[in-house]
Amino acid sequence: MGGTFDPIHNGHLGIAQSVAEQLDFDRVLFIPTGNPNFKQDRKVTPGPARAHMVKLAIKGHEHFELDTCEVDRAGITYTADTLKELTERFPGAELYFIMGADSAATLVHWRRAEQVADLCHIVVVQRPGQSMEFVRAALESSPIAFSVRYVDVPQVDVSSTDIRERVRRGDTIEDMLPRAVAEYIENNGLYKE
Ligand code: NAP
Repeated sequence: MGGTFDPIHNGHLGIAQSVAEQLDFDRVLFIPTGNPNFKQDRKVTPGPARAHMVKLAIKGHEHFELDTCEVDRAGITYTADTLKELTERFPGAELYFIMGADSAATLVHWRRAEQVADLCHIVVVQRPGQSMEFVRAALESSPIAFSVRYVDVPQVDVSSTDIRERVRRGDTIEDMLPRAVAEYIENNGLYKE
């Protein structure tokens, strides 16, 4: 499960739990992005801090693991490189990449998208207010044969953007993310400006 996770929240955890149960996964690796290609013009919290928040959030979840391969890798992060690394680390494993509908709609434009299609199944989940039709249209009209699973998950109306804005305004973020992550945000003064 890849994402910027700036910060990770209950929506991400609920998606991972629900998808893992429905598709009977052995484990879910949470892979915070390193230096995302599509976010060169935006301020993103440093990778080690985002990774640490993931670690705090998944503590106690038996089948969840933090994977820092993208944060540790130099240069711009491409999912194709990550998947290649995972196939080498876990030979024979069947890989599924979990992503939200808006990320999936851009998939055909990702660097080496054919390699992504070769190395994993794509799991697309809907986020509140998103339609799946534009994703289906984008993926079905692509010449690349992605193996796509559309999975229904409980809709939790939380987003990282909303959390960052609430912190900036001084509003509560209680119930939107695990307490340990909220404390980390407060103690480190994240998202204040
Ligand atoms: P993002 O900014 O983290 O998320 C985009 C949207 O999807 C947001 O609405 C986000 O909600 C939601 N989301 C994030 N992670 C999700 C997940 N695992 N499942 C469901 N919804 C999720 O994501 P992004 O920058 O588009 O990246 C997503 C993944 O795609 C990353 O692993 C990234 O490396 C990969 N990617 C690769 C390429 C490439 O290889 N060229 C290009 C683009 C993306 P919140 O804001 O609440 O998190």
